Amino acid sequence: MSLLSVAEALSRILDGVAPTPAEVVEIEAAHGRVLAQPLSARLTQPPFDASAMDGYALRVADLGELPATLEVVGEAAAGHPFSGRVGPGQAVRILTGAPVPSGADIVVIQEDVERIGSKLTIRTGDIDRSNIRHRGFDFTAGAALLGSGRRLGPREVSLAAAMGYGQVSVRRRPRLKVLSTGDELVAPGETPAASQIVSSNHLGVVAMAEAAGAEVEFLGIARDLPDSLAAHFEKAGEPDVLVTIGGASVGDHDLVAPVLKAKGMALTFWKIAMRPGKPLMFGRLGPTRILGLPGNPVSALVCARLFVVPLVRALIGHAAPDATPTTARTAVPLEANGAREHYMRATARRGEDGLALITPVRSQDSSLLSPLAEADCLVIRPPEAPVVPAGGLVSILPLDF
Ligand code: AMP
Ligand code: MG
Repeated sequence: MSLLSVAEALSRILDGVAPTPAEVVEIEAAHGRVLAQPLSARLTQPPFDASAMDGYALRVADLGELPATLEVVGEAAAGHPFSGRVGPGQAVRILTGAPVPSGADIVVIQEDVERIGSKLTIRTGDIDRSNIRHRGFDFTAGAALLGSGRRLGPREVSLAAAMGYGQVSVRRRPRLKVLSTGDELVAPGETPAASQIVSSNHLGVVAMAEAAGAEVEFLGIARDLPDSLAAHFEKAGEPDVLVTIGGASVGDHDLVAPVLKAKGMALTFWKIAMRPGKPLMFGRLGPTRILGLPGNPVSALVCARLFVVPLVRALIGHAAPDATPTTARTAVPLEANGAREHYMRATARRGEDGLALITPVRSQDSSLLSPLAEADCLVIRPPEAPVVPAGGLVSILPLDF
């Protein structure tokens, strides 16, 4: 039986995903969340004609003949409007953000006037009418500005607040739990004994899932024993997503899938046609989607990037599920690819024609973390892709998102 492609595996993982329920959060806590409802402006911005500059508010009719001499009758500052009306021959000192007083229809910038006491003289003939930001210049109440599924980044939270929202309805963060498995693993910071190594992968997987929008809990390290795995799965409860690391291939100590199957997991697939990451497992148990990542660091993190991130995004109803690959050039020739889709780790810089120019990192071995950390992107080589000469086009996916 031929192995599933990456695209097919992803579509099975995402099959039937429904976004998490909505919850209301304070706008101060909304950064990074995804809107569960569209937002229309409750306010008009700016709410009044406002001065864009420091200068003088007056009537353009008074500038018919230059030089013009006017009488300064008051001041308008941000938050402190001038309450009177600007009449013929009058001007009001005005500062940026202040409402333009009634009667005035122009703001002349302070650089273009001479002021002695309350006398104002204007000599310049260049009158810039853009010094007033008219009411509703940015948006008017009712304008539909932020769609459902929009992720609230720094610019969106500012906009939502300006639109009049103190609270917003967002998707609950999907609950995701991560389990490391392996008799050889010790916790980060511990000193490994002779045959041990540090469990490092879970940190990257946790970080990626959090960055994608999940609420993540690390369940610890399970031993390669059915009882230890079963106890950790019991402790996991029923999160939206359970991610295991290691123990997913078919060696004698690879017990993740058998133990989960004994617990009732419906296995969807257990191997896919990709490199790195062939022994990827996916199944479902009750409400939980379970992804078994291979233990090799590059395989674990590349699979997290390709499958965990889009799953989390789908669960929070993110309208843009994930970055689509972009086109780049390779700086060096690339060998023909084999039967499995290959996600090569590469560094990217800007080429002369503006396209990214990529160079694969020194080794593509799936156990090597240091070249993975050096890389910025994955070069996607389709199955049986032919040789690509230096300067040829390739598809890349950024590792960061
Ligand atoms: P496995 O998939 O369990 O056969 O693991 C494959 C390789 O990845 C082995 O060399 C493991 O020691 C290593 N490995 C498994 N889990 C982790 C982890 N959490 N952190 C770092 N390396 C790991
Ligand atoms: Mg293992």
